[in-house]
Amino acid sequence: MTYHVLPTETRPARLAPLAKLPIFLELRGKRAIVAGGGDPAAWKAELLAASGAYVVVFAEEVGPEVLSLADSQPAITLVRRAWREDDFAHAHVAVGHCSGPEEAARFAAAAGRRGVPVNVIDAPDFCDFQFGTIVNRSPVVVGISTDGGAPVLGQAIRRRIEAILPTSLGEWGRAAKQFRERLKTIVPSATARRRFWEKFVDVTFISQAEEDAQLAELERLAREVAAEPPKRPVAGEVVIVGAGPGDAELLTMKAVRELQAADVIVYDRLVTAEVLELGRREARRIHAGKEGHGAACRQQDISMLVVDLARQGKRVVRLKGGDPGIFGRTAEEISACRSAGVPVRVVAGVTAASAAAAALGLSLTHRDYAQRLQFVTGHDRHGELPADLDLDALSDPRATTVVYMGRRTAAALAEQLLARGLPATTPALVVSNVSRRDEHRFVTTLEHLSFGIARGDDRAPTLVMIGAALAQRAEPRASARLMRAREAVAGV
Ligand code: SAH
Repeated sequence: MTYHVLPTETRPARLAPLAKLPIFLELRGKRAIVAGGGDPAAWKAELLAASGAYVVVFAEEVGPEVLSLADSQPAITLVRRAWREDDFAHAHVAVGHCSGPEEAARFAAAAGRRGVPVNVIDAPDFCDFQFGTIVNRSPVVVGISTDGGAPVLGQAIRRRIEAILPTSLGEWGRAAKQFRERLKTIVPSATARRRFWEKFVDVTFISQAEEDAQLAELERLAREVAAEPPKRPVAGEVVIVGAGPGDAELLTMKAVRELQAADVIVYDRLVTAEVLELGRREARRIHAGKEGHGAACRQQDISMLVVDLARQGKRVVRLKGGDPGIFGRTAEEISACRSAGVPVRVVAGVTAASAAAAALGLSLTHRDYAQRLQFVTGHDRHGELPADLDLDALSDPRATTVVYMGRRTAAALAEQLLARGLPATTPALVVSNVSRRDEHRFVTTLEHLSFGIARGDDRAPTLVMIGAALAQRAEPRASARLMRAREAVAGV
């Protein structure tokens, strides 16, 4: 299959820069060394011992914590002298609680010469790695890092994760490890085993069963999966998902779930990196953006692409900015899927107009000022103001109009509305990049709309909003003028 215009592909998943790489270190039976006799050294020694390391603590002066640990924990040995370079031999990890920068530098350098990853407590400049905040449901372990930026935030995140992860999760994790081999004999097919693990996940979050009962439950689940009739080779499907206006927090939970289950994500220009980040790591991402007023053939290419991928058995998420049902060319894609016999579903999203109203703290349908809310497109397939716009409806002083894709033609539209008698003082807003960090708002009136348009970034997605209801959102400076405008328009 060839496409007229090949979409740009990025694979593997686009990944935002990571401040630190979280890795999980195997320390069972390995030597770890700790320098220092104070409490911070004791805590680290205990943590390393809990991870299975045998820990040697070097300290001349020793506090009560270290003493009691060395007494009570066979995996922790105390050596009452200062550390030496050859102590690093065969160590897999080294932690120092040093007396100052001079010792910290020596400790880190010694570790470096021996190739031992090192952490110097409270001295990030000398650290190869940092300890995260931990949620322990071993073998399930969650590590949280704020890159030293805000440890208190790390703690708050930990509390939240603690709250959502059942305490029995660790036991389920252990049961799963124990059951893995047996599962292969009961359920030889790898695809069926994947179904088993999906069911397993559901069970772990609802059942608090004891360990024996857990193994019995796993056995039951495995037999259930093995007894299921083999599924026909799964046909793919297309899920058209609303990505919202940009802020990932404005995604619906359904959208996130679909993104997490996708094999392929086909996204357009309005979708932000932050939203894409929430897609399944392994999912292939395909950028299929149309710039400006895309020609019809390109839409056909995209429809063909998603249909094709679904026919290969892929679970395709077609991610569209805002709500797919609003100026999203969704009808074409649905109909392409249907005529190809590919199952297709739609997940609603937050449309730009709703996000703009929320950001501005106003109601688009304020009962005193607007009887109607209308969404119109500001350009036809040639990029001009559509010739068949219903100008009567648009010049209704008791309507709120939101123009999508209307930046370039806003001046022409304003001119026509003024000619139709919509008062020059009708409030108007130009809002770009709604819900994103670079959101930009311009409060004006119909008469000065073209001026507002000229000021913004030509490439930023922009809404033009017109109507008396919008005066609720007058900036303090402009407020008196706009309040007068609203009154004039509404005849109050
Ligand atoms: N389905 C989308 C609209 C797609 S049409 C939705 O429901 O929002 C593309 C137009 O939507 C853009 O030209 C712009 O007018 C508007 N738009 C989309 N996202 C926007 C955003 N974050 N800020 C401002 N306008 C946006």
